[in-house]
Amino acid sequence: SIIPDYLADALFRVEPDTSGQPAQYIPELAGADPERLAAVVATIDGEVYGAGDSDAEFTIQSISKPFVYALALADRGFDTVLDKVGVEPSGEAFNEVSLEHDTGRPLNPMINAGALTVQSLIGPWNSEPAERGERVRQGLSAFAGRELTIDERVSSSEMDTAHRNLAIAHMLRSRDVLTEDPRTVVEGYVRQCAVLVTARDLAMMAATLANRGVNPLTNEQVVSGAVVRYVLSVMFTCGMYDAAGDWATQVGIPAKSGVGGGLIGALPGQVGIATFSPRLDEHGHSVRGVSLFERFSSDMGLHVMEIP
Ligand code: GLU
Repeated sequence: SIIPDYLADALFRVEPDTSGQPAQYIPELAGADPERLAAVVATIDGEVYGAGDSDAEFTIQSISKPFVYALALADRGFDTVLDKVGVEPSGEAFNEVSLEHDTGRPLNPMINAGALTVQSLIGPWNSEPAERGERVRQGLSAFAGRELTIDERVSSSEMDTAHRNLAIAHMLRSRDVLTEDPRTVVEGYVRQCAVLVTARDLAMMAATLANRGVNPLTNEQVVSGAVVRYVLSVMFTCGMYDAAGDWATQVGIPAKSGVGGGLIGALPGQVGIATFSPRLDEHGHSVRGVSLFERFSSDMGLHVMEIP
């Protein structure tokens, strides 16, 4: 295959770009090695091609959001989840306190307000926080096809400075969108963000979405095709926050970024792609990750609106 050489060449071309900086809001992320760089492509047939630091672990952060949303849809059904969290793009930053005026419902599950609400919709009704945490860890592991673990240091240090997420959760509680202790919900969310993954794991997770919810290596049906259609649609319209429109036109692949430096794209019926590079732009997206995706999209004609 020519893909590994192509990926290695793409990494070589973006490597000189040292603009941006790793997320600064907690010391564990600020201290990430900024030179780490990886790209992995996983096809729905189970072929995996990687280049660079594709086995280096980092925290998943917001890339967890579409997958945990998928688990909530699977666990509680569409009506229950849609009743609490909308599917409209907010065009705002990830941590904006944007709730629908009349209902208090978060606009979508990709911004923090939505992701916090989704936390309360995991597992069977009235699940204990510990059960929900385990459901999230196991669910993300099923998407990846490998047992994933949690970085307890990142999770506890993020909790120490989670003032903004606590404020959002309290706001949701005041509107009865959340009906439980806001702190418990934020703790669950912060743990979900601290799941450790590699670029290879992320590519497999994205490939599972591209493959109608079936992991191409384990063949496990993690969620239904109907759930995946929802998740990919929301990723396409809301996954890149306030850069979603630019991304949709320039790259045209349903995608999600995380402040740990990961970035995924899932092309239905074809491939899952993941990149890793910790320096971020002003939207919180990996600088080299965005360049790599722009390159992949145009070189391989991956834009979903492009007629082959
Ligand atoms: N844990 C981060 C937060 O909620 C995730 C943000 C992101 O990855 O975009 O602040």
